[in-house]
Parts: sequence; C-alpha cells; structure tokens
Amino acid sequence: MRKLAAGNWKMNGLGESLSEIRALAEAHPAPACDVLICPPSTLLARLSDAAGDAIATGAQDCHANETGAHTGDISAEMVADAGGTYVIVGHSERRTDHGETDDTVNAKARAAWRAGLSAIVCVGETLAQREAGEALSVVGAQVAGSVPDGARAANTVVAYEPVWAIGTGKVPTLEEIAEVHDDIRARLKARFGAEADGMRLLYGGSVKPGNAAEIFGTSNVDGALVGGASLKAEDFGGIIAALA
Ligand code: PEP
Repeated sequence: MRKLAAGNWKMNGLGESLSEIRALAEAHPAPACDVLICPPSTLLARLSDAAGDAIATGAQDCHANETGAHTGDISAEMVADAGGTYVIVGHSERRTDHGETDDTVNAKARAAWRAGLSAIVCVGETLAQREAGEALSVVGAQVAGSVPDGARAANTVVAYEPVWAIGTGKVPTLEEIAEVHDDIRARLKARFGAEADGMRLLYGGSVKPGNAAEIFGTSNVDGALVGGASLKAEDFGGIIAALA
C-alpha cells in the first residue's frame, strides 16, 4: 500500500506559512508516498490552492452534523468545500481539551465519510496507562469504539499516538510500536476482514527526520502523523524522503 506522511499543524500557521507549502511542493513534486497537511481551518482553502496536486489537505477536526447552531465548529462538508480530503478525528488534544469520547469520535468519522473525506482516527494511551500495562487494552478499546462499522481501506486511517510521546521528544521503542500496531491490525482484521489489510496505520509522537526511517521500517507502520516537524518544509521533507 502507498504510505502516508500526514502533518498536523495544530494551532500554528498564518498566511505567511503558505511559503512552507510552496517550498514543500517544489522540493517533492512526485513524492513516493501520499503527503497530507492539516492546517488550522483558517488556512485550509488557501493552503489547498497553494499545495498543488502532490499534497493533499485536510482538517484537524469536524463537527458530526452537516449544518446547524454550533458556534465555532466546522462540518465535514465545509472541509470538503475548502478543498480538504481528510479530517483528523479524536486527536488526544481534542479528547483531553474538549472531552471527546469514543462515541463522539465515531460520529465525527462517520461525518467525514458522509462528506466524502477520509477519517484519520487517533488513539493512544497515557503514560500512566502504559506503566500500568494497559496500553494494548486501552488502545484496543479506543479502536473498537472510535472506528465506525463499515470502515473501508479507502476512507479510514488509524493513527497510534501515545499521549506521552506527543510533542515531548519521547518515542516508544520500535518493539513497543510494533506490538501496538500489530495488535491494532489484528483487531481491525477480526472486525473488517481482508479490508483491514489495506487500512493505513500511522505512528505519531515526536517523529523527526532523524528517527523516521527506523519507525517506518517497523511492522505494520504505514506512515506517520507528524506535529511539530510538519511545520517546516525542510523537516517534513526529510520525513517524506524517509518514507520513500
Ligand atoms: C501530533 O500532535 O499528532 C503529533 C504527533 O505531534 P508531534 O509530532 O509534535 O509529537
């Protein structure tokens, strides 16, 4: 399957940041993997225009409803209208800061599909859960609850992001990453059969150009969800090159 390098800009980026996208597109006109940038929603339309054909764009969240009285939210249809083709749902920062549950995330993933987008469903354990030996059970329960019935390889990506590795510079061992990714694949196969073979499983949490190649060489890792290192074309370009 074609791997995916997905960048999550979080609440970073102004109009001037479009120069990073132009630089990325220029440096990687025909990348060997799929490349995606999820900027803040204020930049999505402009970035979609600037990104060119080789870089897909998406949002960092969407509301489950199509329209309505939800001040401050955007719908999956609005993401598509702005040129996006993906939406991240259930990022740990949304789960923590906005109290999103597996049910919320599940509804948002279905909203993404309704609008013709691919959903990147995020899961991951806290440090306390890992130290208690609960990583597999916590992540397994999140996958079960957050990935909707009917998921297909073409519209669903699962991102394993240990909460303690996001933005901290700490990364699990390759064995730990493989253990979780193998377990997620097995759970998806048990539920979705052969369709699960084509679902991309991303690792996320302090991926940098320097550690990307070994992480991408790990069992059942089909790409990365990248925060900090996606903001600069040079850093993200190094990660894209490692995926080739
Ligand atoms: C993320 O927020 O999805 C993430 C992985 O962040 P970072 O790469 O900065 O750890």
